[in-house]
Amino acid sequence: MKPFLMAMALWGGTHAAGAAAQDLVLINANVVNVTDGSIVEGASVIVRGGVITSIRSGAPPATPGVRTVDVGGMYVAPGLMDAHVHVQSEDQARRALLSGVTTMRGMGASHYADVGLRELGRAGHVQMPEYLAAGYHVRPPAAEEFFQDHPELGAYFGSEIRGVEAVRAMTRAIVSRGVDFVKTNATERAGLPNTDPRKQFYTEGELRAIVEVAEAAGIGVAAHAHGDAGGRAAVSAGVRSIEHGTYLSEATLTLMQEKGTYLVPTIAIVRDLTIPGGDYDNAVLNIRGRHMLPRVQETVRNAHRIGVTLVAATDTGYGPNSTTTLAHELLELVDVGLTPLEALRAATTNAAALFGMSDRVGSLDEGMEGDMIVLERNPLENIGVVQDVLMVVSDGEVIVQRGDWPGERPIS
Ligand SMILES: [Zn+2]
Repeated sequence: MKPFLMAMALWGGTHAAGAAAQDLVLINANVVNVTDGSIVEGASVIVRGGVITSIRSGAPPATPGVRTVDVGGMYVAPGLMDAHVHVQSEDQARRALLSGVTTMRGMGASHYADVGLRELGRAGHVQMPEYLAAGYHVRPPAAEEFFQDHPELGAYFGSEIRGVEAVRAMTRAIVSRGVDFVKTNATERAGLPNTDPRKQFYTEGELRAIVEVAEAAGIGVAAHAHGDAGGRAAVSAGVRSIEHGTYLSEATLTLMQEKGTYLVPTIAIVRDLTIPGGDYDNAVLNIRGRHMLPRVQETVRNAHRIGVTLVAATDTGYGPNSTTTLAHELLELVDVGLTPLEALRAATTNAAALFGMSDRVGSLDEGMEGDMIVLERNPLENIGVVQDVLMVVSDGEVIVQRGDWPGERPIS
């Protein structure tokens, strides 16, 4: 949610017009503690001003005037966190929220649409997940839109952003627009027919220059990398996360484990390449996806064994034809050997750590934001239930309620 609402909740003030943080009591809930894997049974969860003030077994203390929802023994888990999205509009952001995502990290948007959306959400004008923005990818063929937004760097238009001086200039320009992360492409993309996803884009020296500019502004770098050489260079240069990581070797994964670099593998979207419809529907990509999928699965299996911290993400735009949700990525992670609890952590506590937000989101505890999803059954027994989110709560506000509920439906 919105940091300024946290501040208001702490001093107990009223909320700004349009702001969403609310008071809410859930009763008769089985609360999933993703930190230790326990379940608080028959619990009451009290949210005040968007922040959880109490989770305890049994009935809550009297909270007159506060909306109370009987969860009927269903399971309450932290709101999901999607670490790699391409959301550029309110309707895309809304679909993410309705799927149970209450925090997401943009990994590329034109014209700083992600920065603008983030601000609209923060001010309470758009009901959407909390959004971390990245703006443009720092990559050798920069997007034409980048030069439209930054004509001061027009000298590079038509040529490539290569060399330490050029990558510094581009990174500085992006950082100046208030992004939360810098996204760079250490290797070519996979989702275009005429690219070679193994091909390295940037040297370690160029990547280090990007990291230095970002770190001077107090933010981290996320490096898209499929191939091992580019991925290794990015890890050595000090990026905070590798996105995709399809062909990473055990040596590179071991380096990631040593340096604390996160892996955001996006398996489900690689599967999307192989099936009709969805975000990708193209013959060349279909053929490519069928040989990439077993490789990224193998890499995640190795990363899990080596102890690299895994973070879940969709790499989708949550568009009207998208068929990938974060639940599908959790199913993929369990499929390659994570326990359901480990998969849930990839979408909650691990993501919060990557985002630097562990003190306020990712787990359900007193003092944490009231970002929650309600599931029919225990996700620690069957992660598949996360596909069917029956209620989404963001900052204590009930966003959607689906299915059969005991008693009166409390929302309009
Ligand atoms: Zn992406």
